[in-house]
Amino acid sequence: MIKGNFPVEKFKALTTPFYYYDMKVLRDTITVLKNQADKHHFTVHYAIKANFNTNILKEIKQADFGADCVSGGEIQLAIKAGINPSKIVFAGVGKADWEINLALEHQIFCFNVESIPELEVINQLAAAKDIKARIALRINPNVMVNTHHYITTGLNENKFGINMMDLDELIKLLPLLKNIELIGLHFHIGSQITDLNSFKGLAIRINEIQHYFYSRNIKIQHINVGGGLGIDYEHPNHIPIPDFESYFNVFSEHLILISKQQLHFELGRSIVGQCGSLVSRVLYIKQGVSKKFMILDAGMTDLIRPAFYQAFHRIENISSEEEPEEYDVVGPICESSDTFIKNYAVNASKRGDFIVLRSAGAYGEVMVSHYNSRKSPDIHTSDEFGL
Ligand SMILES: *Cc1c(COP(=O)(O)O)cnc(C)c1O
Repeated sequence: MIKGNFPVEKFKALTTPFYYYDMKVLRDTITVLKNQADKHHFTVHYAIKANFNTNILKEIKQADFGADCVSGGEIQLAIKAGINPSKIVFAGVGKADWEINLALEHQIFCFNVESIPELEVINQLAAAKDIKARIALRINPNVMVNTHHYITTGLNENKFGINMMDLDELIKLLPLLKNIELIGLHFHIGSQITDLNSFKGLAIRINEIQHYFYSRNIKIQHINVGGGLGIDYEHPNHIPIPDFESYFNVFSEHLILISKQQLHFELGRSIVGQCGSLVSRVLYIKQGVSKKFMILDAGMTDLIRPAFYQAFHRIENISSEEEPEEYDVVGPICESSDTFIKNYAVNASKRGDFIVLRSAGAYGEVMVSHYNSRKSPDIHTSDEFGL
């Protein structure tokens, strides 16, 4: 079976489970992304919520990307990592007053505003400081996306964003909000999108929405199309870097920018997804009635995506070259949903073997919990082993 590149001998001295970040994969991904974005003069904000490990933020800062934050805590992390506030955007349906104030004090680039009441509160808080808040309206483009229903966000009846039918009211209100400066339109239609037609649909929809604003003589400086580009969870070894070239081409071909408008992106998963793996040891192989259970020392508290979104992660036994056998691969947590995968073929495994769950760089470490009084998994990077 094809496997990733892991220093198995070095792993023997380590406590499991742990997250392992392959910094070469991350740096190669960032290099390709940066080259492609520069070619089109596109601006990239890294969506910090995908992974805010300091090793990763360091690379993001070095690449000179901006940050897309969804909480005050993330804004603080981005600034601590050295990312200039003038490159920070702030989204989220429930921005608390302290978070809005924090963002105002740092004069971040832009608030991505998700409702009319939020717009009014930002105006009030900015007025109290006697400053203007730069904002983009997050609009629901009503574009259908073929992904898991938990991670679609661009539809009308969704907690995210402003519906088209509320725009008339909003436009009337805007001139009254003296401490608000509208600079952009923001969209984000979902996550783990692998069909580029969804982005083509978004681009075409944005052209119509732009017309709405321009016909009312409202100038927009930038368009932010969000993130959501998917990764290949089935083939992390063959396709470690997403096809950023085709992704950007969709927008440059189909999105019509008006007089010097800047185009912004907020990519998370596609940047960090493939560089991370969760490494664990087999605790027990348990013979069931008609199947075998492979019980790992890693569980849903370390990587919740399979339990949460029925997500698939490729699983490899990097200690065994035996003929493959089928297992239900499970964790130690007291929940039946603590199952990584069922009836899955892995090289025949025994107690102590290293098992890696691939493509765990995004929405992995950041979702670690302490249920069952579990401690956080350790963190290791390829840099430690000189790889
Ligand atoms: C989560 C999120 C992103 C990043 O999504 P990915 O699928 O990880 O690229 C971008 N923008 C917003 C507003 C988000 O909430």
